[in-house]
Amino acid sequence: MTEETIRDSELDPDFKFKIAKTYEGKTVLWCVQCGMCTSDCPYSEVWDVKPHQVIKMVLLGMRDQAISCQSIWQCSTCFMCAERCPQGVELGRVMFALKNIAAKEKGVPEGYRRFGQQVIETGRAMEITASREKERERLGLPKTLTDSKSIKSLLKKLKLDKLLKDKGGKKQ
Ligand code: SF4
Ligand code: SF4
Repeated sequence: MTEETIRDSELDPDFKFKIAKTYEGKTVLWCVQCGMCTSDCPYSEVWDVKPHQVIKMVLLGMRDQAISCQSIWQCSTCFMCAERCPQGVELGRVMFALKNIAAKEKGVPEGYRRFGQQVIETGRAMEITASREKERERLGLPKTLTDSKSIKSLLKKLKLDKLLKDKGGKKQ
């Protein structure tokens, strides 16, 4: 994490309570900053802001830093941190609480926006190519089915399309 001087006036002391009120962030106040989550996170080595530091930012009221850091988007939701946390903090879910705010205020980073757009348009997270379908046929597997209509209507209800609108999200 790069060094930065932060003034008291830049902190939001209620931020942790706002996060704790969300479904995803309800465990955030239980953190005692032991660092176990970071020691087991498969990506923490390469993250500028480590998992326990993301939580620390929330607890200290560093709202802007917490919703601006790349770690919240790079988290793979593997939940290894939650497995290891002695306090039962669901750190991977807290990341969602932060992402939800970041998406509304700063926009979704370009790579994730494109990915989300593909799910909205095709109903799939991955493109199923004709050759893959052929391979399934050769192996005696049924055709891949996607009820894209119901997926699309579900995503519309969740307003994912609005959330993904370009607000100048950072390139990833
Ligand atoms: S393991 Fe749990 S208590 Fe320890 S720093 Fe991580 S989130 Fe906080
Ligand atoms: S859920 Fe995210 S923060 Fe937790 S261990 Fe996995 S990648 Fe790391």
